[in-house]
Amino acid sequence: MPITNSLAQAVRAIPDFPKPGVIFRDISPLLNHHFRETIDMLSAQFSPEEWAEIDAIVGIESRGFILASGMSYAQNKGLMIVRKPGKLPPPRHSVRYTLEYGEDELQMATNLNPQRVLIIDDVLATGGTLLGTCELCTQCGHEIKGIGTLINLPGLNQFAWPNTPVRSLFTY
Ligand code: 5GP
Repeated sequence: MPITNSLAQAVRAIPDFPKPGVIFRDISPLLNHHFRETIDMLSAQFSPEEWAEIDAIVGIESRGFILASGMSYAQNKGLMIVRKPGKLPPPRHSVRYTLEYGEDELQMATNLNPQRVLIIDDVLATGGTLLGTCELCTQCGHEIKGIGTLINLPGLNQFAWPNTPVRSLFTY
């Protein structure tokens, strides 16, 4: 079986979680049984030429932290974090972003030099989280070189960021 198929099968689909009508994609078994292959396959979505232009990986709280950490280590790149409110000390920037129902906020430290970054999260659903993160990175002076997620749910989004590749391992 091709490696991406066996990885895809390790993602559990949980109907009606966290609310009726939603299918939640649970990546816990994938992290448990295939962590290294997952990091390697997500890294391989970007070419050596693209990696050469990336200084740091931005992980989004909280499952994005796990993937971004593994990729930072494997690719020998810096790590940055985008956090939910109330966690980061100043100086920091904040953005409000739209959720399926309502709004939330993300924050990023502003005391780091501007860098060329790859943004990583586990799931691209409506795209609100990634849009907020792209705005934050731009406000902080970072240049976005790419965006990667394990899973894209294209039925829920038309997410794009100008001149930036958006790549995912699995699409449902
Ligand atoms: P969006 O902002 O694109 O609607 O949602 C993406 C964010 O919500 C990601 O940070 C992700 O962790 C979380 N998320 C949304 N849907 C799912 C899902 O089905 N499975 C998992 N693991 N996370 C999800």
